[in-house]
Amino acid sequence: MSTATGQRTFDSLDPATGSVVGTHPVQDARAVRAAVAEAEHAARWWAGLGWAERRRRLLDYKAVVTQNLSRIAEVVHRETGKPEADATLEVILAVTHIDWAARNARRVLGPRRVRPGLVGANLAATLEYLPLGVVGVIGPWNYPVFTPMGSIAYALAAGNAVVFKPSELTPGTGVLLAELFAESVPEQPVFRTVTGLGETGAALAGDPGVKKIAFTGSTATAKRVMTACAANLTPMVAECGGKDALIVDADADVRAAADAALWGAMSNAGQTCVGVERVYVVDAVYDAFMRELTERAATIRAGEDYGPITMPAQLDVIRRHIADAVARGRAVVGGPESVRAPYVDPVIVEDVPEDSPAVREETFGPTVTVKRVADAEEALEKANAGAYGLAGTIFSGNARRAVELARRMRTGMTAINSVISFASVPSLPFGGLGDSGFGRIHGADGLREFARPKGISRQR
Ligand code: NAD
Repeated sequence: MSTATGQRTFDSLDPATGSVVGTHPVQDARAVRAAVAEAEHAARWWAGLGWAERRRRLLDYKAVVTQNLSRIAEVVHRETGKPEADATLEVILAVTHIDWAARNARRVLGPRRVRPGLVGANLAATLEYLPLGVVGVIGPWNYPVFTPMGSIAYALAAGNAVVFKPSELTPGTGVLLAELFAESVPEQPVFRTVTGLGETGAALAGDPGVKKIAFTGSTATAKRVMTACAANLTPMVAECGGKDALIVDADADVRAAADAALWGAMSNAGQTCVGVERVYVVDAVYDAFMRELTERAATIRAGEDYGPITMPAQLDVIRRHIADAVARGRAVVGGPESVRAPYVDPVIVEDVPEDSPAVREETFGPTVTVKRVADAEEALEKANAGAYGLAGTIFSGNARRAVELARRMRTGMTAINSVISFASVPSLPFGGLGDSGFGRIHGADGLREFARPKGISRQR
């Protein structure tokens, strides 16, 4: 589409009804260049404000976001289809990150004296972490506030300006977040958005004025973003997909494990990078766990407990995974008939072969596979197989054993006796390995992602 002035535009749609929520410009490489050039200027001004003033402004932004909580949640609800309560929770979680980044930036990044080594006894040495300049943030649609804010807040707190390219499915949310920032920082465009499709993101990643890219999205797109970054050797953080496993050990509380598995698999209609997509249950408690799980699943319904599938094309992936899983395993809850576009009711399939797409590829729907295993070692071996390595969960009655298993889980994050709880601890690093990406957001590691270490040694 294009307007009378020739500006190309695109619509964001309500996934439940297909009606238009908003119309936004497709910003091309020239528009992106202009935005980055302005941001470069703003970055110098923002870096010059100093720690105390930046902290004050960011805490003010936190207050503005909090005051506008229901307004933001409403836009998220309309653009993603998720219930407003879920959208509200997402904004609250994002606020905890703005708060943490603002309060901890100076402690983590500010100058500190370090001890000289034996041969440098006459030296005074300092280490500090300086801003990079302009950080480009490219975001997904599934948590359009929480996910990008995990980079944006930290990049701003570290003294950078941010140019944010929200997903084409949730542009209104991104634009609103930047507009609200201007209430706290009206002087310069320190945090701004560029809207558009993938090509706008590629222009941002390839822009020579961008000093780091924080990308969240699919693994396939991360590879394209890396290629665009290669032009200027621009470093990036890649937060990609996952295929998270939940392990239920023989001494686990099976009711709590069933609650967690169900919530982890079905909330947000399964459209969660750290959602539970595979469950491995030790033989001794398998039958008891399945009873609890199926009992609870029968009470959940798409359109009531969670929203529609936000991205229509994902329905084909979900259909394909369910068809293969049901053909080669045993459907316990739901099946192919559970797909009632744009909604998908819960699907639970047991004994699906490990090479099935439903076990290996990201489904991003309210579906989960469950497998009986001999012991926790077999569960861990199966959980650790596959290309992804984002997060995982362990249910166990033995804290020491659970921590030992968690260390050996091939993931960036592991939750014990709860699910996805690491995401609500702002000081913990967030990120994965393998096809789930690299680099870390959140916490002190997240702050350091958006700064460059500088060492200064001075002869006394
Ligand atoms: P996506 O890869 O389709 O798009 C992500 C962003 O990249 C969008 O803004 C898109 O416009 C942009 N983009 C597309 N092509 C581009 C290109 N060539 N160059 C630059 N940018 C480009 O992902 P999505 O469908 O929006 O999000 C879902 C995916 O994100 C899932 O795989 C999910 O697991 C993952 N995710 C990961 C995390 C995490 O923290 N690890 C969090 C949320 C979502």
